[in-house]
Amino acid sequence: QDVLYCQHISKTYNDAGNTTPVLHDISLAIHGGEHVAILGSSGSGKSTLLHLLAGLDSPSEGDVYFLGENLASLSPSQLAELRNKKMGFIYQFHHLLAEFTALENVAMPLRIGGMSAEKANEKAAQLLNDVGLSHRREHMPSALSGGERQRVAIARALVNNPTVVLADEPTGNLDDSTGEQIYQLLKKLSKEKQTAFVVVTHDTSLAARMDRVLSIKDGELLANQTGR
Ligand code: ADP
Ligand code: ADP
Repeated sequence: QDVLYCQHISKTYNDAGNTTPVLHDISLAIHGGEHVAILGSSGSGKSTLLHLLAGLDSPSEGDVYFLGENLASLSPSQLAELRNKKMGFIYQFHHLLAEFTALENVAMPLRIGGMSAEKANEKAAQLLNDVGLSHRREHMPSALSGGERQRVAIARALVNNPTVVLADEPTGNLDDSTGEQIYQLLKKLSKEKQTAFVVVTHDTSLAARMDRVLSIKDGELLANQTGR
């Protein structure tokens, strides 16, 4: 089954009388467990597309389907629950909560979903182990390196066993070798957990290592190239 599916979606921003057409007639499908890159230069509309796929914003035309359900048919609270339970997010900057430990940050999606602190912390500890950070559990984000913070963000994104992980330039803020490790880890864990993985990037070589590359230029999808 397709995890994410959209047909003929367009997006135009309207701010204070200015209309900015950003996406034009985009159709795509992401299959279960598949790793897909959305590749394009800055301003091509990648982040906008990712936001539409995540239901964070609505298309001007067309619909987005997640596991067969039209996102437009869901209430804000249904959407929020779906995002918390079925989707994981990773951004260029980690967005960890500064006043919570690494463990508490990873446990947060489970706590929001209503799990007891004890069970949530146990699961979070497992995920921190998966990303090689068992020894950093009680550290605050400010006491972690950039790469460690991204690994905590990965653990948090995966803690609910999401159907799909959506990542926006997840290594853009890291040096090359740390970025490479983070990217490898994300790919490895999502393959192991059979999570679909969609990454938005301007980096051609990172994109080429996904199962499939969707190139976007000036808001239009160019090609369906096959990765390795
Ligand atoms: P990318 O992620 O590829 O850099 P974005 O999706 O962030 O591209 O942006 C694509 C275009 O949409 C840019 O020209 C940007 O200025 C414009 N844009 C993004 N968000 C908004 C918004 N909220 N209002 C108006 N224009 C926007
Ligand atoms: P950028 O660096 O491209 O500006 P960031 O990496 O700072 O973006 O990511 C912040 C993004 O988080 C925003 O674009 C916003 O749309 C997104 N966001 C806001 N609220 C939520 C939410 N509840 N769940 C997931 N993402 C969110």
